Amino acid sequence: MKKVLAIAGSDSSGGAGIQADIKSISANQAFAMTVITAITAQNTRGVMSIENVSNEMIQKQLEAIYEDIIVDAIKIGMVSRESTIKIIANHLDKFKAKVVLDPVMVSKSNHLLLEKVAIESLIVDLIPKAFLITPNLMEARELTGVDINNFGDMKRAAIKLHKLGAKNILIKGGHLPGPEAIDLLYSEGKFHTFSSEFINTNNNHGTGCTLSSAIASNIANGQSLYQAVKHAKEYITDTLRYGFKIGQGVGVLHHLYKLKEKI
Ligand code: PLP
Repeated sequence: MKKVLAIAGSDSSGGAGIQADIKSISANQAFAMTVITAITAQNTRGVMSIENVSNEMIQKQLEAIYEDIIVDAIKIGMVSRESTIKIIANHLDKFKAKVVLDPVMVSKSNHLLLEKVAIESLIVDLIPKAFLITPNLMEARELTGVDINNFGDMKRAAIKLHKLGAKNILIKGGHLPGPEAIDLLYSEGKFHTFSSEFINTNNNHGTGCTLSSAIASNIANGQSLYQAVKHAKEYITDTLRYGFKIGQGVGVLHHLYKLKEKI
């Protein structure tokens, strides 16, 4: 069993963050391990509070893993603040594993998950160490300054992200209007598109976390980048298709829809 390390924040409501990562990695047939960077108190209506895990404890979690376990791929999600980014960046090379970086900035409920002042450090310290970064349109705009309103803008933003040091870039186009959700991969000078039916649902909490963890798992399992993204896109589309409500606000994905008939 290949091992995937998720470095991310905890979501008490279980739909996003490290909880989504564990479910997505498990559903994509890898073994999930975690370094928790922050704890959020949140439910389906929003984020109430965030407490950052101390830098010392983040470092100890990272050391505990790399001193003992060979990690096959890493996914990075919510990193919350600049000092956390620096600690993670200082330890990443020791793992010798491909890193999928989801540059989480703001929750769908509009709560800041990355301090504004930390964006520069994300660009300088983490992006160059990532094998793949997976921004949504808002995050791509924040990182590049490109205002993205169409597919051409997505391509321009991808090239800019490459110039910032990102090896491979997947810009998620799900928020552009249209009957399809089209994602754009820029890799080795070439563009690839992945389109799926747009699932019009409010049960979509944690899509970014889930997708990046699925890609990391597929990479850990030996898939090419193209195949890893293609299969993760198919997976996220089905988790959206089978999503459901757990509270009064935004619903969740069905990470384990493949077990559905058996429950
Ligand atoms: N909470 C945590 C801890 C997260 O890491 C994320 C991930 O992006 C979110 C919330 C945001 O999820 P969403 O954008 O689906 O609300």
